[in-house]
Amino acid sequence: MRIAVVTSPGSVEIRDIPVPGIGEDDVLVRITACGLCTMEAKLYTGAMPVYPVAAGHEVSGRVERIGARAAALEDAPAVGDLVTLDLLTRCGTCRNCRAGDSAVCASPQGSMLPDGSIGMGSGLAEYVRVPAAHVWPVGDIDPVHAAMGEPLACVVHSFRRAGYRSGDRVAVIGGGFMGRLHLLLAQHEQARSVTVVETDPERRSAALDAGADDAVAPEDVGRLAPADVVFVTIASPEAIGTAFRTAADGARLVLFGGSHDTPDAALPGYEVHRRQLTVTGSYSQEPADWRTAAALLRSGTLADRLARLVTSRHELADVDKALTESSGTPVYRVFVEPR
Ligand SMILES: [Zn+2]
Ligand SMILES: [Zn+2]
Repeated sequence: MRIAVVTSPGSVEIRDIPVPGIGEDDVLVRITACGLCTMEAKLYTGAMPVYPVAAGHEVSGRVERIGARAAALEDAPAVGDLVTLDLLTRCGTCRNCRAGDSAVCASPQGSMLPDGSIGMGSGLAEYVRVPAAHVWPVGDIDPVHAAMGEPLACVVHSFRRAGYRSGDRVAVIGGGFMGRLHLLLAQHEQARSVTVVETDPERRSAALDAGADDAVAPEDVGRLAPADVVFVTIASPEAIGTAFRTAADGARLVLFGGSHDTPDAALPGYEVHRRQLTVTGSYSQEPADWRTAAALLRSGTLADRLARLVTSRHELADVDKALTESSGTPVYRVFVEPR
């Protein structure tokens, strides 16, 4: 089968490796679509220099083969089903996993492929082997939307971390792809209002087109009604500062966007104390979030909103073009469709 491997900054090659064999508890999936996230961009530009690497962790596909024990599970996917894939590994035995916080599993992620490359998703390929517990059927939807299962599960997790309740006023800092997923989930979950705070005027008008109640530049947050929940989808001290200026008394602030090389923001300790603010983080997702995300995708209610976030679709042979586009220009999501 063909698989894309990034070998050094700016270079990716299509290699030929054997189709993975499966065990009793596994599913073999023929990949239909893979979204390119910030991690793929970092690997491709050299910001995250790990080579050679088989990237691609936002993946959908059709079930090709099922192991015997997996087929006997209640709700087991059937051959031919369209599925969205959880490609994270969760050890289940570390202290965090046993506490139910598998998003912060202490075991290292990644795998080794037969050609010697490091597997970090390995979704830019024709097939992938997945444990049955990580396979989520989504019904008959656009495979590119199904590939948004992973980021959508991250956003469901973010809402859970926020203690979100219908009727909350929501502010989203950042109008990029993850910000827009927060916007659409808040709309779906009956927020009282949703505002997007964004520096780029084009992204502000796109957020308004998508139904945001307001979209303002960071310097204009003073004119907004204070928000009960503020999702910070940009990794910067400025964005965190803006979040504090957008928050109502008693608000919950979720630091969703993050990067290890972002300088720390100062914590306004008195304000957190006096206004009873909650500051929390949200990283990755957990099986319960996948369950919700898969149900949302299957319902079809998000389809029109998700369609707005598809920047482009490329064939696997053009993976270099896809990676260049997603790491060099402002995009929502670029997809590769191996077919
Ligand atoms: Zn991602
Ligand atoms: Zn673990």
